[in-house]
Amino acid sequence: MSTETKTTDLQVIISHCKEYGFIFPSSEIYDGLGAVYDYGPYGIELKKNIQEYWWKSMVQLHENIVGLDAAIFMHPKTWKASGHVDAFSDPMIDNKDSKKRYRADVLIEDAMAKIEDKISKEADKAHKKFGDAFDRAMFLKTNPNVLRNQEKINTIEARFKAALEANDMADLKQLIIDLEIVCPISGTRNWTDVRQFNLMFSTQVGSVAEESDTIYLRPETAQGIFVNFLNVLNTSRQRIPFGIAQVGKAFRNEIVARQFIFRTREFEQMEMQFFVRPGTEMEWYEYWKNARIAWHRTLGFADSDLKFHDHIKLAFYANAAVDIEYNFPFGFKEIEGIHSRTDYDLKQHQEFSGKRLQYFDPELNESYVPYVIETSIGLNRTFLAVMSNSYKVEKLEDGSERSVLSIPPFLAPIKVAVLPLMKKDGLPEKAREIMNELKYDHMCFYDEKDSIGKRYRRQDALGTPFCITIDHDSLTDNKVTIRDRDTMKQERVSVSELRAIVAQKVDWRRY
Ligand code: ATP
Repeated sequence: MSTETKTTDLQVIISHCKEYGFIFPSSEIYDGLGAVYDYGPYGIELKKNIQEYWWKSMVQLHENIVGLDAAIFMHPKTWKASGHVDAFSDPMIDNKDSKKRYRADVLIEDAMAKIEDKISKEADKAHKKFGDAFDRAMFLKTNPNVLRNQEKINTIEARFKAALEANDMADLKQLIIDLEIVCPISGTRNWTDVRQFNLMFSTQVGSVAEESDTIYLRPETAQGIFVNFLNVLNTSRQRIPFGIAQVGKAFRNEIVARQFIFRTREFEQMEMQFFVRPGTEMEWYEYWKNARIAWHRTLGFADSDLKFHDHIKLAFYANAAVDIEYNFPFGFKEIEGIHSRTDYDLKQHQEFSGKRLQYFDPELNESYVPYVIETSIGLNRTFLAVMSNSYKVEKLEDGSERSVLSIPPFLAPIKVAVLPLMKKDGLPEKAREIMNELKYDHMCFYDEKDSIGKRYRRQDALGTPFCITIDHDSLTDNKVTIRDRDTMKQERVSVSELRAIVAQKVDWRRY
């Protein structure tokens, strides 16, 4: 059996998601709505399992983290206080020929990534030439071509950072022109000026469209946590340092929504705000950086597919920020952000609401506005990472192929498929008995249609870790065959052992 490496073709993942009921385009019978997706029968199970795993890892395993479920609609002053009304925007630029709109910062980042790509290709080439004796680190430090390209990146990055910090849209445009960036559709450099574009969706509450009735769909879940800081503090018996976790929908009118569920206008965030004593925030920032990347490894992501990426420009409220990037089919991109948000948010809400949002620290015998470390991960992006990481096409010994999702068993949408070998002779009845026993513990799937080989393939494509087959002998020896998704090995076991075998393999404690 040979295993292909991870696919770099996003289309393959999109097709698999559609064909096997994970993700459908939204309102497809009306030809779909751009960049909006619905989760099908197996997609919802996987999404729920990822969410639940995050929740358990953060809330259940930490005595000092509690949960919250704040509403999507919030008082409009929230977004004035948080700075979103004035500053939650992305720089956009249009190509006059194709009429396509782009994020100016993304165009520049992509141009830098292309140069980085050249560097890594240069190193790969040298590696091939020199073989095992090749010292990559030394090569990157000394090769003239690499140094020249690295210098180019540094110069672009410095200028890019300065333009963003000064909010200098004219220089961002100039940078795009100087880098000779062309529109991928029209191939021209006929650009408009760069303009800031606010990403918040607004809507009207009630029937009269007056300005005071304008409210926003939340662009992040975090503010629901900040405005509830006192409520949670007063009811949960928590003492600093402690965290509040929340999972929920967020909405951003992204200039360019693309790459399947990677960037959509409606998405789900899993966020945790950790409140700490001022002056200790860097310690906690380091702590959560390490804890969060370790969590990603438990999803089965290889070290080489994960990396930290420090922010080029810090948000105005942050004193440190890093992204955890995953190697998606389209390259390394952000999956989670870890931000040291200082006391900015609580102080702003204190000022705008007139309510004292402070903590009395009995050890110091003083009150203060806590500092905050935020961990913010996209549920949909994690879903896409799990899918991309698990999807494989394997060549089997008999020459045939199977597509398999090697999803970690504790996240798999279906844990067990129960399959009577034939649809007669009392086998379905025996299979139903087993199904009825296991379904209270796990998501199970009963299937008696098609050949057993076809049924195995279907479960492989859904990522089901176990198939249990009931044959004629089962009726007399009370034993069944249990097949492992990854090794395809089959073992005959007693029906009485099934619960323990499955429970052991899908136990999230093992990861
Ligand atoms: P990006 O730079 O990709 O726009 P961001 O830095 O604005 O992301 P944050 O505000 O830090 O993102 O949000 C935290 C997390 O929420 C991100 O790491 C990502 O996983 C998720 N997220 C943000 N925007 C989107 C989106 N439009 N679609 C899906 N997930 C998103």
